[in-house]
Amino acid sequence: MDRSVDVVVVGAGIAGLVAARELTRAGREVMVLEARDRVGGRLLNAELPGGTPIEIGGQWVGPTQHRVLALIRELGLRTYPTHVAGRHIAELGGARSEYTGRIPRLDPVTLADIGQTQWRLDRMAAAIPLGEPWTAVGAGRLDRQTFDTWLARTARTRRGRAFFRLVTEAVFSAGPEDLSALWAGFYIGSAGGVDALIDTAGGAQQDRVVGGAQVIALQMARELGDRVVLDSPVTGIEWGDAGARVRSDRGTVSARRVVIAVPPPLASRIRYSPGLPGDRDQLVQRMPMGRVIKVNVVYAEPFWRTDGWSGQANSDSRPLGTVFDNTPHDGGPGVLVGFLEGRHADRGARMTAADRRALVLEDLAGYFGPRAREPIGFIERDWAEEEYSRGCYGAFATPGTLTRFGPHLRRPVGPLHWAGTETATRWAGYMDGAVESGQRAARAPWSP
Ligand code: FAD
Repeated sequence: MDRSVDVVVVGAGIAGLVAARELTRAGREVMVLEARDRVGGRLLNAELPGGTPIEIGGQWVGPTQHRVLALIRELGLRTYPTHVAGRHIAELGGARSEYTGRIPRLDPVTLADIGQTQWRLDRMAAAIPLGEPWTAVGAGRLDRQTFDTWLARTARTRRGRAFFRLVTEAVFSAGPEDLSALWAGFYIGSAGGVDALIDTAGGAQQDRVVGGAQVIALQMARELGDRVVLDSPVTGIEWGDAGARVRSDRGTVSARRVVIAVPPPLASRIRYSPGLPGDRDQLVQRMPMGRVIKVNVVYAEPFWRTDGWSGQANSDSRPLGTVFDNTPHDGGPGVLVGFLEGRHADRGARMTAADRRALVLEDLAGYFGPRAREPIGFIERDWAEEEYSRGCYGAFATPGTLTRFGPHLRRPVGPLHWAGTETATRWAGYMDGAVESGQRAARAPWSP
């Protein structure tokens, strides 16, 4: 495969496929080189007993995620609401609350503390310029501290701090001690606030894609046809003023431009010749991936619904801290989806599969009663074990990263352009951010 095209896109995740689609429409000759034997990257469907698709990667879309919603519509796909009817469960600081609506029934002191901390967090996030977070007023002060330090200074109660730890693990699949407070603020701002991130109705978990979210990628790949080449991990890129030569296991492709649409830590595993500028490499050295094990537990029927539960549960004391009803829209078996995130994923990954299953079922039984111990299926995925993801949901910036190296996140290096959800300004870390990043990379001006 020694060929020459206008643009090589590295990675057939949603970002790379959007970039390829836009470039093709603009009349460019494009080739997408994908390392895996499938498209979709962090989007992946599995099959339930009976054949209905279920997501083991990204899945939900929310009402303010306009770019991915427009793409879904354009591709002729449909969405449906996440099941929310019934009582939710929240366990915090040893107390269990069963509630409907958005706000758990907690003691008034904790609720007031959560309210004031969230208000401060939203205010801090809203003041961060999304395209240049490093220019925010107080950016240096925020970037010098972890999000944990910021929360410890802001939240007044033990339960309030426990709540925001749970939120951080659910949103970032990392602990607040891992993240720069500036990155946390940027990320929350890029989503439009804490509620937009954590809510089901009205927030990021509101809707699902009929057929499983990987269909978004599969549909784009179908359109692109043989422009997408699978089983082609890119190992090296030689670049200069005139363009680049991109090496994969299948040969070399020459291009005037390369769009690198892979998560930052994986972009740094490609060998560049000449080497990338120090600033760019220092940046990606400081952006690790979060860690998550996603588990879909399948039951003959959604028994929790008949017991009056919505299937939505959160706990600061259980490893399976976040659970939702994941039953597909056309019925079939009942599904509960749960996440082992951050430190819980570390622990889960070190267990045998049997012990991990027992741990997950124990937590589900703790939430919904003993029937949760009798699943008919158990589908799990440890995203840190995936050679071409090495973690999820996305990469984050550690303290000091954005203020020292932030401008290099999107700045092209010669003919090399950077895409991927981590480079987005809106809904960074989400499918919507991936779409934004692919569009930006595809629309970058060409020199005459
Ligand atoms: P990726 O999907 O990571 O695509 C990168 C591609 O590059 C991959 O296909 C990879 O195989 C390929 N690649 C890597 N290295 C090379 C190489 N050297 N050569 C060639 N190809 C290479 N988002 C939401 O919006 N809603 C959710 O509910 C949600 N939940 C999630 C749950 C889980 C468990 C996970 C894992 C993710 C979730 N996300 C969710 C995040 C969402 O999936 C990602 O934001 C999005 O899919 C990222 O797309 P991307 O194209 O930027 O990157």
